[in-house]
Amino acid sequence: MHLAATADLRQAQALLSWDQNVYLPPGAAGARGQQLATLGRVIHERDTDPQVGAWLTALEESGADEGDAADAALVRVARRNFEQATKLPGAFVEDFTKARSASQTAWVGARAASDFSQFAPHLEKMVELNLRQAELLGFEAHPYDALHDLFERGSSTERLRTVFAELRDAAVPLLRSLGERENKADAPLRQAFPEADQEAFATGIVRTFGYDFEHGRLDRTVHPFATSFSRYDVRITTRYDANFLNPALFGTLHEAGHAIYEQGIGGAYDRSPLGTAVSLGVHESQSRLWENLVGRSEGFWQWAYPTLQETFPAQLGGVSQRDFYAAINRVSPSLIRVEADEVTYNLHVMVRFELELALVEGTLKAAELPEAWNAKYEAYLGVTPPNDALGCLQDIHWSLGMFGYFPTYTLGNLISVQLFEAAKTANPGLEDDVENGQFGRLLSWLRENIHQHGSRYEPAELLERATGQSLDAGPYIRYLKKKFGTLYGVTA
Ligand code: ZN
Repeated sequence: MHLAATADLRQAQALLSWDQNVYLPPGAAGARGQQLATLGRVIHERDTDPQVGAWLTALEESGADEGDAADAALVRVARRNFEQATKLPGAFVEDFTKARSASQTAWVGARAASDFSQFAPHLEKMVELNLRQAELLGFEAHPYDALHDLFERGSSTERLRTVFAELRDAAVPLLRSLGERENKADAPLRQAFPEADQEAFATGIVRTFGYDFEHGRLDRTVHPFATSFSRYDVRITTRYDANFLNPALFGTLHEAGHAIYEQGIGGAYDRSPLGTAVSLGVHESQSRLWENLVGRSEGFWQWAYPTLQETFPAQLGGVSQRDFYAAINRVSPSLIRVEADEVTYNLHVMVRFELELALVEGTLKAAELPEAWNAKYEAYLGVTPPNDALGCLQDIHWSLGMFGYFPTYTLGNLISVQLFEAAKTANPGLEDDVENGQFGRLLSWLRENIHQHGSRYEPAELLERATGQSLDAGPYIRYLKKKFGTLYGVTA
């Protein structure tokens, strides 16, 4: 009951945050901050209540944490949450919160002025605090393990290094050989598209995917996101660009993928620590699967393109399905991660992973970041940022003290292909389903193998159970080579 009530409080906290991002009148920011702070304090007190530790110890002494049953998983997950909450002393958390707030303010100013030197001392501080945090949380092989584990249970630095290097060593030459070909035109996507029609089309698609509007809703924000207040209420947001089709269309598909996952968590885990998504990597695998593996596939547009043309006859009536497919899959090395295509996206992540690892290891000093950043962009993507704002100051994450987070984006991409392959093997003809706008079998497979389990299995075990394999870059590399090799006429 204690944990269930804490789960209620956490969901209420998420709802207040959602409202803050979507509807809060500007004059209410102070009051809302106060409400969130109080709620955060109450939740922290409950998370660290020594009584919880005593209950867990009693359960562990009776062997209740052993074996494969859901109840045993519940004890293990509750123990993990309790340890994480109690290992960081209040004074440290307070220091971190204060430093983070100053760091974020400095980052906003530095980015506006495109001047990294304003942010450098704060970055140094964030690295220092993260090292301290890693010590407090504890680790065996590498301090980065402890940090990354906060976002991806059970993953390791060593594994990331190996798998990411394999991906990088395949993606860099692929990008180079594609670059020797004539690039695709994305002009069809850059026209005036009325927002209401964009919304109607995207809404229709995600409804067909299986996003349940009885238990969700779609709103507008500057930065799109998905958030859950139990499986009965999972909301998404999107942003519209009246002169570019991609942000709202693929953004909505992406966030709906996140939300479909949360809507599918088993009802038996309501208000339990098992009733949440297991990790950010698995979460991202769900958004990427619907956004890219379905939403940017040729088969999908065979079904969806006629409707899109009917929605925008003046803009797309004269654009062939082939040209549209090429446009949405245009590969173009850019400076900005969030706008990257499937081939280059992971290279943006790679740069960040390698640099944050070097910062944590102390082989890179904060002051040296811009130079190192630019060198990696040149080496992997063949582009050099003209200034810090478009370079190492573009992401907010490090200013918030988040180290070990970026790799989850690439983990999501890799896992999405492994899962999609397994779903196709289990359901012969699944690609024909997609060409016919039938997503029921795909959704059922994901429900059965991923969604329903919530946090019951560790990510690695979940993947193993669903696909029979461990994390592997091979399937993603083969997917990239096949799709983009065909599109650009390159034999890879
Ligand atoms: Zn996402």
